[in-house]
Amino acid sequence: MRSLGKIIQLSDDLANKIAAGEVVERPASVVKELVENSIDAGSKNIEIYLEDAGLRLIRVVDDGEGMSKEDAILSIERHATSKIASVHDLFRINSLGFRGEALPSIASISEFKLTTCDGNDHGFTLDIVGGIIKNKSTSPSRKGTEIKVSNLFFNTPARLKYVKTIQTELGTIIDYLNKTALTNPNISFKVYHNDKKIFFTLGNNSVEQVLVSLYGLETAKNAIKIYNSNHDFSINGFIVKPEISRASRNYITISVNKRIIKNISIQRAIIDGYDTLLTTGRYPIAFLNIDVDPYLVDVNVHPTKMEVRLSKEESLIELIKASIKEHLLSTNLIPEINNRPKVESVKIQEKFDFTTSTIPENNNNKTGLNINENEENTDTLDNEVLEIRENIDELKTINVHRKLLPELYIVGQVHGTYIVAQNDEGMFLIDQHAAQERVLYESFLSKINENQFDLQQLLIPYTFDVNQSEKIIIDQYYNLLEQIGIILEPFGEKSYIIRSHPTWFPNGTEQKVIEDIIYQLIINKTVNLKTITKEAIIMMSCKAAIKANRFLNTDELNSLIKSLRETQSPFTCPHGRPIIIKFTINEIEKMFKRIT
Ligand code: ADP
Ligand code: MG
Repeated sequence: MRSLGKIIQLSDDLANKIAAGEVVERPASVVKELVENSIDAGSKNIEIYLEDAGLRLIRVVDDGEGMSKEDAILSIERHATSKIASVHDLFRINSLGFRGEALPSIASISEFKLTTCDGNDHGFTLDIVGGIIKNKSTSPSRKGTEIKVSNLFFNTPARLKYVKTIQTELGTIIDYLNKTALTNPNISFKVYHNDKKIFFTLGNNSVEQVLVSLYGLETAKNAIKIYNSNHDFSINGFIVKPEISRASRNYITISVNKRIIKNISIQRAIIDGYDTLLTTGRYPIAFLNIDVDPYLVDVNVHPTKMEVRLSKEESLIELIKASIKEHLLSTNLIPEINNRPKVESVKIQEKFDFTTSTIPENNNNKTGLNINENEENTDTLDNEVLEIRENIDELKTINVHRKLLPELYIVGQVHGTYIVAQNDEGMFLIDQHAAQERVLYESFLSKINENQFDLQQLLIPYTFDVNQSEKIIIDQYYNLLEQIGIILEPFGEKSYIIRSHPTWFPNGTEQKVIEDIIYQLIINKTVNLKTITKEAIIMMSCKAAIKANRFLNTDELNSLIKSLRETQSPFTCPHGRPIIIKFTINEIEKMFKRIT
């Protein structure tokens, strides 16, 4: 018997439609592929016109190098690319594209019109419907390329079903274009949707200008330039001060050698860099470009090239975290410029929240932010001078602690909760509990760093009960608990005995802290030593902090403010809530209509 061959070669058309399934998930994928091609073509100006979130129309017009007639015809063939020629090139990719799949894929599932001219000849136009060439013609000679994609997915209705609402699709497109504009400040982008302008950037190589166009002046003003490098990586970009934050991670833009990527660990590193300055559920606005030898990057991991594989990722993560932390700690968290040399300027979060009806609403501060750029803070200056003198008098090594809060004079306490203080600049309200939390948090943190491994042996061990599945998890992570200093011993079928714990666990709350740590381990099934320690410290600080309605005498108040001034980050509690709010004299006078 002769067996009939079952294997056939797919037709180009079918192969393109299959590839389209991978490359073109949604309208945003088309925008991405077309814009990337325009960038690769060296364009200085790219215009993007969308109708109905790209489903009706996506038109991308660029002024790049264009294509000859022959290249234009080739460009819509599968695996036709001008960007790599050999396997060797695959390991040194400098362009955004290289797979030669996008144009044929898109052309197979839309009505596609390509007009291009390389400046040497007439322009050339190609009309394709559902992958079939319908018309070839000459067109005017404008150097550059225009691609019009209409009625996307018209012949793949199944794909159309997966497209979300117009609003969601448009959001995804704009998100991508925002990130692209940030990554390419040297290119001017003009984006329109249903004839309305979405954003324009100037292409004058200023990331600040792009930030203004995308996120507005306020955000741009609060952006801190960041750059750093280690042996393998160099990073540069902007991080926006934590007082302006977002409810989504989408405002974090990461690019590697100017390719926008998604990478959870890098994103995490950026968020971690803000440490306790952000409240839970809030995320920063940040933009980071990572420059690295293309040899260390594998971009050929994912069809849309959004994910890349990086060698030595660990060292990059550390670099990012440390740089962001350092930049934030050495920056004014509210803009108050101190022009005197060598003295760090002072910052206090000035937030006004007039929510009660008895207090007149302050319309000038609807945004909740007051920026006062040119005030000097002489108190701090005097303070530091004094401190330096003291140190010299003691003939000790000069180790001046940089104080971020100005000298404050206590007026009193309100409702056993808020401390009222004043100085030349105005009045300050301090959340007593939040302040105490911050002080304790930093002191626990430094204690841990000093004696992380000092263990307290328990004479009378605690026992605690678990169920079978919890026991499995605990046994699995026994070593990690031991690394934190919690030594357990099984006791019968369903219990453990705690033999020791680190000495830094605060008196009286040890058992609770241990139980919470184990509970976290059980829920998360993984254990991140740093996070667990940090969370335990936050929890401990909160527990140990004076409760909000306790009365403090003047000495206690003064000592709390003194300790707060010693902290590295006196503006927010470890959960990211504000500790101190400033009412400038100006603001108070405005409220009482003494001035207008
Ligand atoms: P890739 O970008 O992976 O090479 P594409 O299918 O996206 O594959 O594009 C195929 C080729 O068409 C590119 O390699 C490039 O030579 C050419 N091309 C596409 N778009 C443009 C453009 N806007 N300007 C100039 N050339 C382009
Ligand atoms: Mg491409």
